[in-house]
Amino acid sequence: MSGALLEVNGVSVSFDGFKAINNLSIHFDKAELRAIIGPNGAGKTTFMDIVTGKTKPDVGSVKWGEQNISLLEMSESAIAMEGIGRKFQKPTVFEAQTVRQNLAMALKNPRGPFVVLAHRKTARNAERIEAIAKEIGLAESLTRIAGELSHGQKQWLEIGMLLAQEPRLLLVDEPAAGMTVDEREKTTAILKEAAKTRAVVVVEHDMEFVRRLDCKVTVLHEGAVLAEGSLDYVTSQQSVIDVYLGRDHA
Ligand code: ADP
Ligand code: MG
Repeated sequence: MSGALLEVNGVSVSFDGFKAINNLSIHFDKAELRAIIGPNGAGKTTFMDIVTGKTKPDVGSVKWGEQNISLLEMSESAIAMEGIGRKFQKPTVFEAQTVRQNLAMALKNPRGPFVVLAHRKTARNAERIEAIAKEIGLAESLTRIAGELSHGQKQWLEIGMLLAQEPRLLLVDEPAAGMTVDEREKTTAILKEAAKTRAVVVVEHDMEFVRRLDCKVTVLHEGAVLAEGSLDYVTSQQSVIDVYLGRDHA
């Protein structure tokens, strides 16, 4: 067996006879940053739905961790407890609470027995909150009300709330959408840092953003992998130019 953190093999899923995911195989290492690109309807969101247990495939396997456990029989909450975090496009922070309170609430949502013990240690929690705030560029904003943050800062806060849960795999859907250039750059740095100690998978349309991520890229098309490699490699492939770039620049 390989040492992959997540291994998806031969997965298909149909909606009313339409194959949204078609014999998809893809895997991720324990500490890697990966970008997933592809035209609208390629199956990117459905792929994330499968990994998080929201959608169950018709065939195929999804194996997780050192024990190669199957995620297919597990509920969404059980999968989250296993250490798979997902960030949706729209930030969902608690607007009326401060940045610190938001991060504290995320810490209070333990996903294992050790975290429960750690939770009693308030000082440790405070340190943890400060470390996360620093990682997401909000160290100076801990006392600010989340509702007053910029769109980008809210996105970072939500990433921080996910990091507080210590996921081993973080799935992020279009983080750059609606961000300023500065915010995009900072977001790249946050995701790169997070991927040093876990797998981070980013679905993104913005090519400049993907270029800055400077990571392996998987191109999805019609529910399967069309190409995989560096951004320069995949964008040089005629098949990718035809179905993705060609359409994008049409
Ligand atoms: P992407 O995120 O790459 O744009 P999606 O995963 O959202 O693509 O969708 C892949 C295809 O599956 C699309 O054609 C979409 O219309 C279809 N699809 C996705 N979810 C459903 C659903 N719940 N019911 C019916 N069709 C769906
Ligand atoms: Mg989508």
